[in-house]
Amino acid sequence: MILELNEQQNMIRNMVREFAEKEVKPKAAELDEKEEYPHEAIKRMAELGILGAIIPQEYEGAGLDHVTYSVIIEEISRACASTGVVTSVHNSLTAWPIIKYGTEEQKKKYLPILARGEKIGAFGGTEANAGSDLGAMQTTAELKGDKYIINGSKTFITSGPKAGIIIVFAVTNKEAGPKGISAFIVENDFKGYGIGGIFHKLGINASLQSELVFENMEVPKENLLGKEGEGFKIALSTLDGGRIGIAAQAVGIAQAALDESITYSMQRQQFGKPISKFQAIQWMIAEMATRIEAARFLVRYAAYQEDAGNRISKEAAMAKLFAAETATWCADRAIQVFGGYGYIKEYPVERLFRDARITGIYEGTSEVMKMVIAGSLLR
Ligand SMILES: Cc1cc2nc3c(=O)[nH]c(=O)nc-3n(C[C@H](O)[C@H](O)[C@H](O)COP(=O)(O)OP(=O)(O)OC[C@H]3O[C@@H](n4cnc5c(N)ncnc54)[C@H](O)[C@@H]3O)c2cc1C
Repeated sequence: MILELNEQQNMIRNMVREFAEKEVKPKAAELDEKEEYPHEAIKRMAELGILGAIIPQEYEGAGLDHVTYSVIIEEISRACASTGVVTSVHNSLTAWPIIKYGTEEQKKKYLPILARGEKIGAFGGTEANAGSDLGAMQTTAELKGDKYIINGSKTFITSGPKAGIIIVFAVTNKEAGPKGISAFIVENDFKGYGIGGIFHKLGINASLQSELVFENMEVPKENLLGKEGEGFKIALSTLDGGRIGIAAQAVGIAQAALDESITYSMQRQQFGKPISKFQAIQWMIAEMATRIEAARFLVRYAAYQEDAGNRISKEAAMAKLFAAETATWCADRAIQVFGGYGYIKEYPVERLFRDARITGIYEGTSEVMKMVIAGSLLR
């Protein structure tokens, strides 16, 4: 594995960094405050090919490798973690399972729409009583004629209020446990599809999460993704890749915390000199930078393994576990560098602190990541 980005990857990183700094970062605080979806950034990301980053070119995507994709998510999240997660869910949790498990008809129908950003993607796995234990889901799907009838509800669904294409998981065979779960491509205008309550959260406030409610929802038979009973396998393998996106998001948040700490510590004067001259501050900055670099390499390694076609459950879990802890730790240290100002909403590190916290929870908690890692070692 080559640790340096190649010329094309560097070029894309610079392009995305410039876009994120100019067009995403200036609005991040206001959108967070108003709990407002980043519509403009999403429109621009569609134009720039970011919404179709991992979608093959034959389906109108950019056809990028996963290392480049992880760099994109890091750069967007460095500017705005909410926009980062919307982009990650759209690519990793919606487009990817269609690319991997979809029929040619499904790919032709849905991937160009996702790449063009005409519809935003979402992933409907979690239910009120099925979080870490996704296999305990109770939403049902019953084949009646040429349609599946889906009943139940999902919760905490990122982009739920805005999504147009949703990968929904439901039980088609109650007796079979997780092997009785199937996956479906659902559109938001299907009969019986509804959006439930929208949640108010600690952070990533510009990404909206809601319940999804299915009341005799009619899904055409041809929208079954993979085979009946393959849904749990599809969910787990999709989440493996998704975790690289969330780990990259965490690295972006941590990098933003470091950037802000460096700038502030060189400006803020106490005892007649910039606080960056104090060893206590230098040590925090040095340790933040070291942890971030380590997290970034874990993310790139997991993405590299995905590009190589290898199994990535352990690598993605390690990257997400470490990057999430790094983001939370760095955002906490950044508040310390800022002192009292770090605790005040007008300064950016307060938002970074709130945004960082979710990275150790969604797409599998840190405890679940440790279960995955240990499970792959203790066979
Ligand atoms: C902002 C946000 C966005 C989200 N977006 C989506 C989305 O787009 N799509 C989607 O499907 N879901 C989404 N989720 C759901 C998310 O993935 C779950 O919240 C997460 O997987 C944890 O499930 P839970 O909340 O039910 O917690 P629980 O599973 O109830 O866990 C509670 C605690 O118990 C621990 N725990 C559970 N089981 C074990 C075990 N076996 N061993 C040790 N500890 C354990 C957990 O680590 C945690 O600390 C989102 C959640 C949030 C908050």
